[in-house]
Amino acid sequence: MVFPFKGLSDYEIKFKPEHEMFRQMVKEFAEKEIAPRVTEIEEHNEVPQDLVNKMLAQGFQGVSIPQEYGGQGGDQVMLAIFSEEVAKVSPAIVTLMGANGLFVFPVLLFGSEEQKKKYLPPIARGEKRSAHATSEAVAGSDVAGIQTRAEKVGDGWKINGRKAFISGGDVADYFVVLARTSPITNRKERWKGLTFFIVEKETEGFHVARHMEKMGLKGSHIVELQLDNVVVPDSNRLGPEGEGFKIAMETFDHGRIGVAAQALGMAQILFEKSLNYSMQRTTFDRPLISHQMIDTYLADMVMKLVSARQLVYWSATLADQGREEYKFAASLAKAYATEAAEWAAEKAISIYGGAGVIIETQIERFLRDVEITKVYEGANEIQRLVIIRQLLKLSLGVDVMSM
Ligand SMILES: Cc1cc2nc3c(=O)[nH]c(=O)nc-3n(C[C@H](O)[C@H](O)[C@H](O)COP(=O)(O)OP(=O)(O)OC[C@H]3O[C@@H](n4cnc5c(N)ncnc54)[C@H](O)[C@@H]3O)c2cc1C
Repeated sequence: MVFPFKGLSDYEIKFKPEHEMFRQMVKEFAEKEIAPRVTEIEEHNEVPQDLVNKMLAQGFQGVSIPQEYGGQGGDQVMLAIFSEEVAKVSPAIVTLMGANGLFVFPVLLFGSEEQKKKYLPPIARGEKRSAHATSEAVAGSDVAGIQTRAEKVGDGWKINGRKAFISGGDVADYFVVLARTSPITNRKERWKGLTFFIVEKETEGFHVARHMEKMGLKGSHIVELQLDNVVVPDSNRLGPEGEGFKIAMETFDHGRIGVAAQALGMAQILFEKSLNYSMQRTTFDRPLISHQMIDTYLADMVMKLVSARQLVYWSATLADQGREEYKFAASLAKAYATEAAEWAAEKAISIYGGAGVIIETQIERFLRDVEITKVYEGANEIQRLVIIRQLLKLSLGVDVMSM
């Protein structure tokens, strides 16, 4: 045993030639189309619509949507490549596009055939946008603590509540909304009784209540959503009644790999910039790179970067192989890569000195962006809980929740 797995082959990373082709394509697009607009995006906290349209036309919203629903049929490795390459230039655009993934995943994994046919092709074609609404001001990590309620009315459901922190909620046409459909009966099983619904933006009683300003990822927006007596037919229920918690967890487990890859892209570009600067900048008549302290920063940066890359693409490979263990690997990747990128951002600022905190140098924005990646898609404290719970389950068959 190579704890907690059975053998060495469990640590394989699998790339195909099409992954490299896709990487080159995304990289070129990011450098040519996104990079020249980054300052404008930061200053206006808005991604210009013509750039959004170009990305939609490229099919970036449909990377993970199967070809039968009009998408590119990409796997998790491809999604990670997309996140990494775009994040090197604009982490915010990864979030802008990635918010759709949190709608697409649960529909793909748990939706009916009718739901897939209705909702996925317009997203893949870039005609419609989508978002995921689980979190509330009162409950983020504690998903089972949400207060939004749905009750049966005739052959449909009436939903009431308020959601918070919803990425892309200002531009989305379709939402998955989590609501409590039956009361908590005992504390150990409080995760039961939650159900997802698909809500379209035009539905009566559903509206964006307020924009929430944040420190980084400028250009991607988060909003609060208000649901007042929103009625949807039962055909909009996503997955079985009462199974919403499991659907949310499965969605976040997948999404986590994308966030880890987003952080990896940041760590990569911060290292490249720091390395170049250390060779150009001289202090005391010598280039920075000849000072041992600076080399320590650079070496530690690259150690963390390479380790993060292994974790990101390993977790994506496990997910693509349909292996249950991908959840353990995805949490390792998310916590590790986001903290590696945070470390890289701090050290890049140290290497650049005063220039590092000047906005036009384009270093400090990565520190503001990376702080958010540590929180969303399950805060890193929660990743650590998942890591230990999954490890015990995989290697010893112990379920901590039943202890
Ligand atoms: C920019 C941004 C975009 C987001 N986009 C979306 C979205 O599109 N859809 C959506 O549904 N949500 C979204 N979220 C919400 C996000 O998932 C939550 O913010 C996150 O899960 C943390 O929840 P919280 O903010 O309520 O913190 P809390 O749950 O209140 O946690 C506060 C602190 O306590 C720690 N903590 C909590 N419980 C434990 C525990 N048991 N053990 C140890 N530590 C613990 C947390 O790690 C955190 O550090 C977004 C958030 C942000 C900031």
